[in-house]
Amino acid sequence: MGSHALNPIENSEIDISHYTNPKSNIRHPKSKTIFELIMVNICLVEDEQKVAAFICKGLEENGYTAKAAPNAAAARSLLQTAAFDLLILDVMLPDTNGIELCRQIRNTDNKTPILMLSALDQVQNKVSGLKAGADDYLVKPFHFSELLARIEALLRRHNGSGEEEHILIFDDLKLDTWSNTAERAGAQITLTAKEFTLLELFMRHPNKVLSREYIAEQVWKIDFDTGTNFIDVYVNYLRNKIEKGFKNKLIHTAIGMGYILKSDK
Ligand code: CA
Repeated sequence: MGSHALNPIENSEIDISHYTNPKSNIRHPKSKTIFELIMVNICLVEDEQKVAAFICKGLEENGYTAKAAPNAAAARSLLQTAAFDLLILDVMLPDTNGIELCRQIRNTDNKTPILMLSALDQVQNKVSGLKAGADDYLVKPFHFSELLARIEALLRRHNGSGEEEHILIFDDLKLDTWSNTAERAGAQITLTAKEFTLLELFMRHPNKVLSREYIAEQVWKIDFDTGTNFIDVYVNYLRNKIEKGFKNKLIHTAIGMGYILKSDK
């Protein structure tokens, strides 16, 4: 028996017809991917209608969902009714200024990434904005590509490697990356180091298809050789440990694409 003899047991299969490298949480223009299922919502607070319309249109063309609020009051009520992944606040607003609005938002314990916009190229404005809890600052006028780059960076920082949670929870699975313990429905699961790293990778990217290449690179720090099936073998080791005795499957095969951590319920 050669190394190809182990066949992955595809205990759960779903058809994912689009795939994007999960390293980037960002959708690219016009490319429909699995991430279309997870829309990135952006709220723009800007009173200049033309500017707001231009930015919203550009964001939508780049696969984001954008809502605009013309003043701080409208922004506050919008934030109460919808969840956003990112906020863009203009400093000059007719009611409360953007810096103060940013401070108010942070005071409500809202940790959504905030990008401040200002026509005033003043260091003081930037410092005040960042002190008020903004994550980044962009001076008007700007190239739209720069706005997109800042947005992507903020989303990546927020969703990924920046401040990593050490307790990860998905469905009834719980992983503690400090004590290196894993449990499902309160029962301890014993994992090898690689299985643990693999599960952590899935739990940091729930509901996203992870390609074998990506898994190999992230867990084994190697380039994936398509001639081997060790990823499938390890995924099945992991499945046996976390799914045995449970009706709800968590790691699903995305045929021809890779694997996805997804609740079966
Ligand atoms: Ca303005």
